Amino acid sequence: MRRSSACLIVILSLAACSVEHAKEFRAPEPGVALELAAHRAATLSNVRYDIRIDIPATRDSAVLGVIDVRFAVSKADEPLVLDFRAPFEFVLGVLLDGDSVSFSVSTDHIVIPTNTVAAGEHTVTVRFRSTDAALNRQDDFLYALFVPDRASTAMPVFEQPDLKARFTLTLTIPSAWKALSNGALASRVSAGTGRDRVRFAETKSISTYLFTFAAGALAVDSAVRNGRTLTMYHRETDPEKLQRNRDAIYDLHATALTWLEQYTAIDYPFDKFAFLALPAFQFGGMEHPGAIWYRAESLFLDPAASRTQELGRASLIAHETAHMWFGNLVTMRWFNDVWMKEVFANFMAAKIAGPSFPDLNLDLRFFQAHQPAAYGVDRTAGANPIRQPLDNLRGAGSLYGAIIYQKAPVVMQQLESLIGETVLRDGLRLYLDRFRYANATWPDLVSILDSLTPEDLSTWSDVWVNQTGRPRVTARWTDSGLVVTQGDDVANRGLLWNQPVVVAMGVGDSVLEQRVLLRGAQAFVPMTLPSTPVFLLAGADGVGYARFVLDGLSRETLLARVHELPTPLHRAVAWQTLWEEVLEDSLTANEFVNATVVALDRERDELVAQQELGLLRGAYWRFLTDSSRAAIAPDVEAALWRALEAAPTPGRKGAYFSAIVGLTLSPDGVARLERIWRKQETPRGLPLVEQQYIGLAEALALRGVPNADAILTEQERRITNPDRLARFRFVRPAFSADLGVRDSLFRTFANVDNRRRESWVLDAMSAMHHPLRAEYSLPTVRASLELVEEIQRTGDIFFPLRWLNATLDGHRSADAAQIVREFLAERPDLAPRLRGKVLQAADDLFRVTGK
Ligand SMILES: [Zn+2]
Repeated sequence: MRRSSACLIVILSLAACSVEHAKEFRAPEPGVALELAAHRAATLSNVRYDIRIDIPATRDSAVLGVIDVRFAVSKADEPLVLDFRAPFEFVLGVLLDGDSVSFSVSTDHIVIPTNTVAAGEHTVTVRFRSTDAALNRQDDFLYALFVPDRASTAMPVFEQPDLKARFTLTLTIPSAWKALSNGALASRVSAGTGRDRVRFAETKSISTYLFTFAAGALAVDSAVRNGRTLTMYHRETDPEKLQRNRDAIYDLHATALTWLEQYTAIDYPFDKFAFLALPAFQFGGMEHPGAIWYRAESLFLDPAASRTQELGRASLIAHETAHMWFGNLVTMRWFNDVWMKEVFANFMAAKIAGPSFPDLNLDLRFFQAHQPAAYGVDRTAGANPIRQPLDNLRGAGSLYGAIIYQKAPVVMQQLESLIGETVLRDGLRLYLDRFRYANATWPDLVSILDSLTPEDLSTWSDVWVNQTGRPRVTARWTDSGLVVTQGDDVANRGLLWNQPVVVAMGVGDSVLEQRVLLRGAQAFVPMTLPSTPVFLLAGADGVGYARFVLDGLSRETLLARVHELPTPLHRAVAWQTLWEEVLEDSLTANEFVNATVVALDRERDELVAQQELGLLRGAYWRFLTDSSRAAIAPDVEAALWRALEAAPTPGRKGAYFSAIVGLTLSPDGVARLERIWRKQETPRGLPLVEQQYIGLAEALALRGVPNADAILTEQERRITNPDRLARFRFVRPAFSADLGVRDSLFRTFANVDNRRRESWVLDAMSAMHHPLRAEYSLPTVRASLELVEEIQRTGDIFFPLRWLNATLDGHRSADAAQIVREFLAERPDLAPRLRGKVLQAADDLFRVTGK
């Protein structure tokens, strides 16, 4: 689009601007370079934005605005640079302190030359047109999503987390619409001709990525909890669904707020508390102070929701609420430390949500939510460390991923076990208090904690936070005791990943645990046992982080008896460890799938059952050959139906049902799914909802039932929810039996406008590359990989990896692996983090094809 790097065009200068002047002018690097950010942070202060934005009723009309940027500048030794990532002609006028001024527009910036802005207080006023890039405009609503560096696609700002500012926003919107932003609603007056002017109170000091607003056809609801008003905006059309979930949603927020106020010893630091539930929102949530965005589907659960989904909702709410302190009150100085806010939000969420689920096993939950996903990146050639360098904010989006969200909390858990809960809490209180409404770095926190503990935290931090990968840890039984050794998973690096390792040992009919503190290459614990253990399972506490390697006897015993282990956490760790053995070829996928079939209807723990289903799905589609899959399908389906019948609650039945829909292949099984879709049969004890019928129709189409097209047409007719209907219409061509129709849909994704609804695009891509259709979609794999750079530029932060996963997950052929290898070989210029994501997404494919 507009991103030619070396280009500088000087336009719109109100003072005549000579060519000579233009030559002298050195344009700032596109994006926000670290150097520019550091200079601005050192010279600018007291920033305030007063923003007036006009939002038209139709999504095709331009969003126009005016911003007053107020600030104090201490030194005028460099040009004043505002960030605005828009076509040059979107800058409609610039004033300095109310007067015309000479300025230039270059890629991503508006620049006022050196010496024009003297030291002191100033106001720069810019009239602008917003790009729609971060406004998520739909027919009757829009919402801004500026994380990490996209506020400047909508308006000119100083886009960096450490130039916090107070925002005052005025929106002019259609009179029928509602609006919300970070600040409290201050006034709403008619602006004439069916339009209203809505003004929001000035915010506390916040970073640009945390500023937001939304407007449109939104319903409003509110409740009071502990004397505080919580307001919910939403678009849910089913009153029953709303009523069923409403109290839980408010209660969960109230619980999280109270808990955090106690833990941090700081009252809720912002002026109001509101949130917006958005259908098909890109993330689970986004923590804008005073205006959290949530994915509606994560808040409004179906009656058949599992306890896991309920815990997921509680954790999500606690996560976003924890951000009010961790991230919003104290913010990272630069996005290289973005992981800190995420790790603390996750860490606190685990502590907050846990006690509301006394029936669920928290240690188990922690393990399942973290290690498997973190290993999914850390075991690949594309792994990244927790703390990554970042020289330009443009790359900030590519920092996010499982290492930040899933590995870092494990590391934090280990930090807490190393220094103790109280020291960690006290250190965090000091940190939050010292840097409130300001910014801090990871070393700032390490130095606070270091002063409170005898441990050498900087050495520890260097291995766990600054390096990639994990150790290979082996537990071995000798006549005189237990030996635990570690090596580096990455060749020739020799790092030591010191940690406590808990080893479960099968002795006779019981399982014993032994904790071993690994503070070097090897640790030995002298002990005697009544008999030689039949298995050793390291990492059994679910906090250890390693490739825990099984010896032959342990592998054999666990494969046969994993479902008999008495502790759910041990079963979960054992399943993950066995899965790692499949990935390293020490165990075949057939053996693994057979073990899950045996375990399925015996597993009494819902979370372990969910984990089994997820692993089964991966092994079944990815690691079995077509013929072994077809051979084992009837057994898998029968085991899943038995498990569904035996499941005690609709929630658990729902989990098995969704696995049945996902895995069924046998002709009888497919016929049964069709009867259920036709409402001629209902799974006993499981009332199906619209979403499940949609899933059934899509599954039937993928399996190529003869009347697939008629089924899709009928399903489209059945859908009553308008958002679900819009999604279905969008993805439907991806389920077509006609390859030409599918390919045409894929070709439309080359245009950024057709990729705006990212979750829909991903659903469509997954359908096109479904294992049953992978052979036909193979020719588009290369084109899909080619798009990823542009997707990184135009899409939201998780989109590139998800796009890659949606493209590659269905493939298991050597040809597909070859296409990826060639792409990487021919593209040495691919940005390292993006290359890493390709390697992450292709890891299973490389393993299954032995490449
Ligand atoms: Zn977060």
